[in-house]
Amino acid sequence: MTAETIRSLTNEEISLIRKEFPVLQQKIYGKPLVYFDNAATAQKPDAVIKSLTEFYSEYNSNIHRGVHFLSQKASDAYEQVREKVRNFIHAESESEVVFTRGTTESINLVAQSFGKAFVTEGDEVIISAMEHHSNIVPWQMMCEERKAVLRVIPINEKGELLTDELEKTLNSKTKIISVVHISNSLGTVNPVKKLIAQAHRREVPVLIDAAQSIAHEQIDVNDLDCDFMAFSSHKMLGPTGVGVLYAKRKWLEALPPYQGGGDMISGVSFEKTTYNEIPFRFEAGTQNIADVIAFGTSIDYLQSLDRKRLLFYEHQLLSYATERIKEVEGIRIIGTASEKSGILSFLIKGGNAMDIGMYLDTQGIAVRTGHHCTQPVMNFFKIPGTIRASFLFYNTISEIDIFIEALKKAARLFHKK
Ligand code: PLP
Repeated sequence: MTAETIRSLTNEEISLIRKEFPVLQQKIYGKPLVYFDNAATAQKPDAVIKSLTEFYSEYNSNIHRGVHFLSQKASDAYEQVREKVRNFIHAESESEVVFTRGTTESINLVAQSFGKAFVTEGDEVIISAMEHHSNIVPWQMMCEERKAVLRVIPINEKGELLTDELEKTLNSKTKIISVVHISNSLGTVNPVKKLIAQAHRREVPVLIDAAQSIAHEQIDVNDLDCDFMAFSSHKMLGPTGVGVLYAKRKWLEALPPYQGGGDMISGVSFEKTTYNEIPFRFEAGTQNIADVIAFGTSIDYLQSLDRKRLLFYEHQLLSYATERIKEVEGIRIIGTASEKSGILSFLIKGGNAMDIGMYLDTQGIAVRTGHHCTQPVMNFFKIPGTIRASFLFYNTISEIDIFIEALKKAARLFHKK
């Protein structure tokens, strides 16, 4: 991306965007809210909030099973979101889009169903050293059950994946690779397209944890050629409690159902149950209908903006913050990969991350402190946690200035030489 070809957002455009996010309008302890916790969850525009209210006040109804007007309307709205997701990630077919509760459930679904179908004693599963616990624990649980081995691709001091190690780790026992696209604690953008091609040369399928990248990249599952992709609606302006598992048709057809219950069957008797077609086979029970519909509105909202420009602007925010934070005494940035997106993790020498986070809070600045559900990353850097500022396109350069000035004060209070 270059400044010549992509125009950044103007101040007027950003202030128009910000007006659509009610949470951003408030003051915290008398100071304008600076929301830098977007990697944990993004704020919601009015349209998404309205969509939830509309569902419950106008056509609340269960889906797929009703012949009445409200049920038809709710079913149509729910299924339209499947098409919106398909279009958003460039999947070939809507039947490759399964609604789940979020990234975590999507990964658990694959770990359990794939494990049952394809993993036996002595087989291997590969993940990376920078995974979120959601992309570690489900595989660990499955490997324990199936007596398989979990292997880990290491990272370097900059927080970059040692991609050459993948070649050494891949072997005839490798059954699947699951790797994060953008690290939520380091901001590293992994070269997933290259990794997928590398794995496919050995016919090993790949799951991409896109929890962070779904908001910060233009995702094209066809171009990436990933076998599975997991992401959450709440990181992309939609409601919590909804997510997606994208899977190539051939995999969804080959995997056993994850959960049993209503809607996932085509016929049930006490002797035998036959399962519904994909993707419904993987959506047992009443789904999170209202939130799926509002998730569709968040996709509409994102699609209504020029995403290339948004992403370019987000890169500018990160570069600006990365430069300016160096003015803070005792600063140590954790995660200095050459390809980064949206996330700035750091420590102030001698200062406790939690104390600094609490001080920033008194200034109306919301950041996250701790291990960010990536304890192995923290162990690698031999630190208990970091302070993490994470940006989205509604953030501004002047918010970063406020943040840097507050950090300088925090450094004076807490920094020990
Ligand atoms: N993977 C990554 C990289 C994440 O950042 C997160 C959430 O922060 C998750 C997985 C889990 O997402 P969720 O809690 O929405 O299931």
